[in-house]
Amino acid sequence: MKRDSDMRIAVYPGSFDPITNGHLSILRRGLEIFDEVVVAVATNPQKQCLFTIEERLDMIRQVTAGMEGVRVDTFEGLLVDYVVRQGSNVILRGLRALSDFDYEFQLALINRKLNRNVQSVFLMTDYKWLYVSSTIIKEAASLGGDVNALVPDVVRDKLAEKYPALRRRLEANARH
Ligand code: ADP
Repeated sequence: MKRDSDMRIAVYPGSFDPITNGHLSILRRGLEIFDEVVVAVATNPQKQCLFTIEERLDMIRQVTAGMEGVRVDTFEGLLVDYVVRQGSNVILRGLRALSDFDYEFQLALINRKLNRNVQSVFLMTDYKWLYVSSTIIKEAASLGGDVNALVPDVVRDKLAEKYPALRRRLEANARH
């Protein structure tokens, strides 16, 4: 049994609007490196989200229920300060294609400037989820695209509550 002070804790921050299989893949792999990963949902009132904070937390809690070492939380304010409050010094982020790099690089540099003790750790996405983002999932779902293989079932059902086109598609699939 590790003592609290020996625990390697990473914070995985994001909007998770909603959580996708891409996020889950990074989380699972993060758990192979760290004893605990805190999934930290950003409560940024400036950012327009489809799902409320409570809905996003609820979905994450449901899909991570069987995963040991996961904690789900919200944060506001400076990420590096939150990371320190969690007894951590690691920010975990996922990288997809080149498009993520610019932004993630900038973010890592500013966070390093703000607190030199906090390290950013990047995991490359699995090729299966290379093109998966919360934004593209929402776009596809709003048009009735079947997002089944890209998000957990709980998330698909919540998307269907928001988007009638997806609801109709799922009902049609169930009839065939
Ligand atoms: P943000 O709102 O900060 O962009 P997101 O909720 O979209 O956060 O994502 C959180 C983190 O998960 C980011 O590091 C992002 O690059 C990563 N991520 C999102 N989708 C994928 C994916 N399909 N594969 C790997 N990493 C991903």
